[in-house]
Amino acid sequence: MTQLEEIRKYMEKYREETLAIARKVWEYAELPFDEHKSAALYKEALTAQGFEIEDGLAGIPTAFLARCKVGSGKPVFGLLAEYDALDTLSQEAGLTVRKPVKEGAPGHGCGHNLLGAACYASALAARDYLRDNGLDGTVIFFGCPAEEGAGSKQFIARAGYFDDVDFCYTWHPSTHNEVGNNGSVAIMGANFSFEGIASHAGGSPHLGRSALDAAELMNIGVQFLREHMIDQARVHYAFTNAGGTAPNVVQDHAALKYEVRAPHVSQMKELFDRVVHIARGAAEMTETKMDYEITMAFSDYVGNPALSEMLSDCMVECGAPVWEEADYQMARDMLKSYNEATLTSIRASLAEEFGPERVEELLKKPLHSELNTYERVKNPVYRSGSTDVGDVAYATPTTTLNIATSCLGNVGHSWQNTSFCGSQIGMKGMLKAAEILALACVRTAQDPALIEKAKKELLAKNGGHYTCPLPDDVLPPVGKY
Ligand SMILES: [Zn+2]
Repeated sequence: MTQLEEIRKYMEKYREETLAIARKVWEYAELPFDEHKSAALYKEALTAQGFEIEDGLAGIPTAFLARCKVGSGKPVFGLLAEYDALDTLSQEAGLTVRKPVKEGAPGHGCGHNLLGAACYASALAARDYLRDNGLDGTVIFFGCPAEEGAGSKQFIARAGYFDDVDFCYTWHPSTHNEVGNNGSVAIMGANFSFEGIASHAGGSPHLGRSALDAAELMNIGVQFLREHMIDQARVHYAFTNAGGTAPNVVQDHAALKYEVRAPHVSQMKELFDRVVHIARGAAEMTETKMDYEITMAFSDYVGNPALSEMLSDCMVECGAPVWEEADYQMARDMLKSYNEATLTSIRASLAEEFGPERVEELLKKPLHSELNTYERVKNPVYRSGSTDVGDVAYATPTTTLNIATSCLGNVGHSWQNTSFCGSQIGMKGMLKAAEILALACVRTAQDPALIEKAKKELLAKNGGHYTCPLPDDVLPPVGKY
């Protein structure tokens, strides 16, 4: 029996249970830091499989790890599971028209129900493989909540849980099968508040000091800043408190939420400092008081090159998910749910990626069946999304996989994605991801030279230790983010 055949045997053994978990977590659809039922489901299942639980990591009630030691217990490797959902994206599974299970309720529009379940199956398969072959290693399933909120992995990394981990693998549900060479950018979020003096806006305007003016001036300052920042940087903001609804009162308080993104954590921090300077300037101009509180931050993510090569080879060996006519039918119907502008953009991106001559063929069978393998590049492109996996990748060699769980062109964080992630398409992608991750785990665990190489690459990146982008006094904002 080949190594892959053996992994497939274990995958078969855990198939039904894994599908049931993916479905259950999809139904729970719990918001960031509120994933109590989902976390409990995993902890119970992993305990029953002989894993030891360490609960409440880094002071986060829904963060945990489950550890299983085989033989000498070395090397130690982790799988990074997520299970949080997104607000308002409730949607019936497998349906291609909008129909929430419960109006306004959360839904798994990012597929984290699949993400965690695949990590579960691969943790079990990898453990069984090591045990049945008389090999050594420790498998750790990291239960990481709130990826869609303030994140948790940076807090778990800061608390040192990855210090003795030799490598980590994870994946994300996607429209494509790939081990990418792209990165994702670093991000920092903060609340800014201004305090002024209230007064009668008509009778005694000269006695008032407007916090709302300060907030508006801060935004204007940031608009001017945009011309003087690097192309890949982004600054987003939202009013969280505009000081009330009475124009005849000079507003004595106002608050905003800002998010700053840039490719590298150092660039992001520099840009964030410039935003703080602008906020100070706005307070000075209006004689108000400014205060700010950093609420979240993720490091940039780039996969560890040595591990990415291994993961890519395993993906090639396992192959892409096998789609049936019913899957293509659902994918075609789902594309029809998008408006003309989105469809035009989907066609354009298919033409750019696959060549204009293939667009019609792909729209007939809009599920990715090819494999985008990893290539080493000197300067990875940083796409403007952010993930707390970036922090783990600064703490221990880590890389991630994408496997198709929705149609080509599908928009992330959408009701369409909730539908796919509860459907047969999502489940097929999930099982394929689990197989690839399990194979990569056992191969890497048996390859000390590869682990050494991956660690050298990490050393060049982090200088020997993980530095959390958050100040030490910023604690996980459980229940308040
Ligand atoms: Zn996600």
